[in-house]
Amino acid sequence: MRLFTGCFAHESSGFSPIPTSIENFREAMLHRPSRSEIVEGRYNSIECALSAKGEERGHEVVESVGAVAMPSGPMVKADYESVRNEIVSDLKKAMPVDAIAVFLHGAQLGQGYDDCEGDLLAALRAVAGPDVPIGVEIDLHGNVTQAMVDNATLVIACKEYPHSDFLERADELLDVLEAAVAGRVRPVASWRRLPMMGIFHTTRQPMRGMVDRISAMEKEPGVLSVSIAHGFPWHDTPHTGAAVIVVTDNDRALGDALAARIGAELFAMREDIAAPQTSLDEAFAEAAAAADGLVIIADTADNAGGGAASDSTFFLHEMIRRGTDRAAIGMIWDPVAVDLAFTAGVGATLAMRIGGKTSPLSGVPVDAEVTVTALNTKLSQVAFGYRRVVGRAAALRTGGIDIVLIAHREQVHSPDCFTEMGIDLSAKRLLVVKSAQHFHARYSPLASKIIYAVAPGATSVDFTTFDYHRLPRPIWPLDAEAAFVA
Ligand SMILES: [Zn+2]
Repeated sequence: MRLFTGCFAHESSGFSPIPTSIENFREAMLHRPSRSEIVEGRYNSIECALSAKGEERGHEVVESVGAVAMPSGPMVKADYESVRNEIVSDLKKAMPVDAIAVFLHGAQLGQGYDDCEGDLLAALRAVAGPDVPIGVEIDLHGNVTQAMVDNATLVIACKEYPHSDFLERADELLDVLEAAVAGRVRPVASWRRLPMMGIFHTTRQPMRGMVDRISAMEKEPGVLSVSIAHGFPWHDTPHTGAAVIVVTDNDRALGDALAARIGAELFAMREDIAAPQTSLDEAFAEAAAAADGLVIIADTADNAGGGAASDSTFFLHEMIRRGTDRAAIGMIWDPVAVDLAFTAGVGATLAMRIGGKTSPLSGVPVDAEVTVTALNTKLSQVAFGYRRVVGRAAALRTGGIDIVLIAHREQVHSPDCFTEMGIDLSAKRLLVVKSAQHFHARYSPLASKIIYAVAPGATSVDFTTFDYHRLPRPIWPLDAEAAFVA
């Protein structure tokens, strides 16, 4: 079949202090085949796997834009519109096509746009007409909207957090599109929004069992796909919240019933699946009381992967104040400090000001005498199965604490971001990582204990710290009266 593909993915936080323009995509990944502009960027991205998989399956693939940027604030209006219009224009040129497969994030904002995915899909549908199946793969941290469901034929979210299943979901999306084009199935979507928001790890029960149950449901007759979108809580929009999407083979009654049943189950377990909220003091106390081995504290509120600056200093200040030994922390975004470390050179000891620059949520800078222990121009780590370049990085030591600083904002995914800086994690007792959960995939085998801690920050799961105005109310956990009626 003739398959049109594209990827325009940005997790935008309405509370991020970091603005977003086309330059942030160029830095990470921006492929524009129709303009002959292939910018390699620093990412090798799983988000653009639909094109490669379409070709592997022997389809005639017409590839449009492939654009991914680090999570940050809403995209500059003109830049969002320009990329959207380019994809739509590529589709016009590519018509007629048999099917469309795109990867979108699900939580993308542009200035003046609180539902970029719905906006883009409506534009694609207007060009494609009512009969061409449009398949969309999203990150489970997406806020599903009526415009998305109305304009796409099927929306499939990844099921795992950490997101280890993007490639499997891409295959499922293509399976359903192929069947639809061949006339073997007629996908019909049912969906329910849930009045709840939060961060739900699929590595822990009872969420693990929930994912296994919806995967089993996909094998039942008439069911093509079941997705739980966890939602993206740092959006102050009328769409914010979790959702269930069930795609059936032309059986709306079955889809509606399943969506309601799964929604009720998920809402009932909300207290048990919410990410733990351990305070900074409790985290240090739990770490001190833990058995031998490496204790990892996740600084979840300063997660670059959710749009935070990743330059907050709450943990570093506390580690220094407590005289923490055999410890490491990273990765702290501070391009100025990285430059100073490169100028000083490995082995230099100097007074340095670290972090605490981007907003009040970053805390106040740390002033410390540090020794530069390592410099790296091409630090890299493994993210979602691909090696991804982080770029310039410096390792500093102050007292018993190793600190990894980076020039390009990234969350911690794999241990390489410490080991490539000469830091031996097997010799450490305490490690603080700036990540909410993606670190878990590759760090959990090294850890004797993992603590999810909540300091102040742009990705805090203490939602009372944010000023919501447009959020649909009541919504759990802010409103105790929130209820889901199946
Ligand atoms: Zn996500």
